[in-house]
Amino acid sequence: MAEEELPPGGKVPVFLGLGSNLGDRRGYIEKAASMIADVEGVEWKSLSSLLETDPVGGPPQGDYLNAAGELASSLSCRELFGNLQEIEAELGRVRKVLNGPRTIDLDILLFGDSVIEEGDLVVPHPRMCERSFVLEPLCEIAPGMVHPCEGKTISQLLEELLKKRTAASRDERGET
Ligand code: ADP
Ligand code: MG
Repeated sequence: MAEEELPPGGKVPVFLGLGSNLGDRRGYIEKAASMIADVEGVEWKSLSSLLETDPVGGPPQGDYLNAAGELASSLSCRELFGNLQEIEAELGRVRKVLNGPRTIDLDILLFGDSVIEEGDLVVPHPRMCERSFVLEPLCEIAPGMVHPCEGKTISQLLEELLKKRTAASRDERGET
C-alpha cells in the first residue's frame, strides 16, 4: 500500500525488529517497547519472546537479544520511523561503527504491504530475508504474513534460509 493510500482513520499492521547487545539488553528492549507504546497513533498488538543470537558482521562484540513485534499504526511509515529514531537516540544509541554494538536497534521490517525506497528508509527492510535473528522471532508472531516483494510467507522465508545455511555448512565440510 502506498503511503498516500492509507485509509483515513485506518490502521496499518506494522512489524518491527528490536535488538540490543550492550548493557542491560532485556531492560533496553523493554524500555523501547514501553516508549513505543507511548507514541500517539501506534498500539502494540504482539511482541515475540526474546531470542539470544550471535552478532553478524561488524567488530567482535557481545551476543544480541532480538525480538519482533506487531503494531497497528495510524502514523505514516516516515512518521513512525522518525519516532523510532528518536527512541534509539534517547536510549543512548551512538552510531560509531557499521554493524557495531548498540544499546537498541529498532527496524521497520514490514509496513502493511508498502514498498518504500527513500534512501534512509527502505521497507520491507532490505536485509530481513538473510537474517535468521529477524525471521525467527517474526515467525513466532506472524508465520503466515506474506512478504510483499518476495510473495512468500515468513515461515517459508525462514525455512529457505535455514536450508541454505545447512547446505552451505555441508559444502564447507566437504560433504555431498
Ligand atoms: P541495521 O539495522 O541494518 O543493523 P542500522 O540500525 O545501523 O543497521 O541502520 C542503518 C541505517 O538503516 C539507518 O541509518 C536507517 O536510515 C536505515 N534504514 C533503512 N531502512 C530502514 C528500516 N526499514 N528500518 C530501520 N532503519 C532503516
Ligand atoms: Mg537498524
